[in-house]
Amino acid sequence: MKMELTCIGCPKGCRISAEVIDGEILSITGWECKIGEKYAREELTLPTRMVTSLVKVNGRELPLSVKTARPIDKSRVFDSLQEIAQVRMTPPVYIGDVIVPNVCSTGVDVIATKEIW
Ligand code: SF4
Repeated sequence: MKMELTCIGCPKGCRISAEVIDGEILSITGWECKIGEKYAREELTLPTRMVTSLVKVNGRELPLSVKTARPIDKSRVFDSLQEIAQVRMTPPVYIGDVIVPNVCSTGVDVIATKEIW
């Protein structure tokens, strides 16, 4: 089966073509650097994404920005965003604090990316 991908490694957005049969990658072409080749291999095997979101803070108008500590399985992104949306924090919060441990049982924590005093 032939597949087409657009690399998200940089704004150039190279069009990458791949041929996959029975889960085996036979060829990957169109990438212009190793980042694109790596991205395509991961997309074709176990696609992952970093998740960024906002969490409401009690008594504050501005929300807290958060992200997953590392990429999670792409299929779990929507459920993770829903779990994150349920959270309310109370200051103080420090950069790197775990806001949602083991989000959606992915084994990955959601952490704060800014401080709120
Ligand atoms: S393959 Fe390399 S140059 Fe092309 S979009 Fe991806 S990161 Fe950018």
